[in-house]
Amino acid sequence: MNVIEPGGTIGILGGGQLGRMMATAAKHMGYRIAVLDPAEDCPAAQVADVHVKGKYDDLEAAGELGLHSDVVTYEFENVDERVSQFFENEGKLPQGTLPLAVSQHRGKEKEFAEKAGIHVPAYRMVQTGEEFDRAVADIGLPAVMKTVSGGYDGKGQYLLRTPEDCSSAREDIGNTTYIVEKWVDIDKEVSQVFTRDSAGHISFFPVAENVHKDQVLFTTTVPASISDNETREIRQRTQALAEELGVVGTFAVEWFVSGEDVYFNEMAPRPHNSGHYTIEACNVSQFEQHIRAICGLPLLPVHTFPAAKMINVLGRHRDALFRSLGSEQVHVHDYGKHESRPQRKMGHVTIIGSSPDDIKLGEPAWSKSW
Ligand code: ADP
Ligand code: MG
Repeated sequence: MNVIEPGGTIGILGGGQLGRMMATAAKHMGYRIAVLDPAEDCPAAQVADVHVKGKYDDLEAAGELGLHSDVVTYEFENVDERVSQFFENEGKLPQGTLPLAVSQHRGKEKEFAEKAGIHVPAYRMVQTGEEFDRAVADIGLPAVMKTVSGGYDGKGQYLLRTPEDCSSAREDIGNTTYIVEKWVDIDKEVSQVFTRDSAGHISFFPVAENVHKDQVLFTTTVPASISDNETREIRQRTQALAEELGVVGTFAVEWFVSGEDVYFNEMAPRPHNSGHYTIEACNVSQFEQHIRAICGLPLLPVHTFPAAKMINVLGRHRDALFRSLGSEQVHVHDYGKHESRPQRKMGHVTIIGSSPDDIKLGEPAWSKSW
């Protein structure tokens, strides 16, 4: 792979917070940044050199991004296939299109994991009411129905606990495919964020433990409270998936730990919310490793503080956050989003400590009512 040296320009498809944090990592290293996003003054455009204002599926705008860029990356998985193919044909998309095609579709990603011999919660794909009824009969309640594509932060999900839940979910089945899956009795949710370079070297960040509320990520904590065996198992499976997909860049796989079982939940072909703690808690962040991988630079070995916790800041916490700034342990990130909505991710905070107990002392008061 060509090495893109500092001074070169990295094009980013998508102008959200992940693009912003990729850009700031790249800026430290001396790269220039071009961003494609339709929104004026979006989080990544605020820190970019060039903003191409266009929709994600606008081939002309993509062409313009390409003119500015020595290499192109994506910060979200729902990249239009023609756009990703265009950059791949130009030899400018080291991450490739396969991880997109697989991770864009919850059904395909589960099939992919199963083929690699990895357990997934029982699931069925459904397109009609009859298929839904059969899926619920086969799988049993509780279950969850999710749109196969486009969902995030629990959007497009229906919890199915009672026959009434099923009737109302069934009514929404129409012109898109859904997946119905068994609701797992989760002991712990963890994610493995890692980076793979084009020569196939993998650098793992610590396995992180995630707590969700209403299906939205609330906190990420390292170290995760899992055994060395579980860590080994998760790493082996993650590596198998990464090799099968030919991953280049930073990537995340989410896992459910339930009793003795570890189930694959989903993957993200890009830096991940559960890896934000790496900015302060590791010698190298998930964003810098990503930039290194796509620019053909060697990955750094990862070293981590003894304990860290990331807490997401949603629109409904933002004012409380600003009132409680000033703790010695708390690092604040605000994504520069103009429009605040109660459930929208507006920023995050990271607390660094010498032990898990030490972290508890640093947790800001507003986070107790998350
Ligand atoms: P997304 O992150 O794309 O919104 P996920 O499938 O990761 O979608 O679901 C979000 C969260 O909802 C998960 O992290 C988990 O907390 C919960 N969840 C999703 N599917 C299941 C399941 N089958 N069993 C138990 N909890 C689930
Ligand atoms: Mg998820």
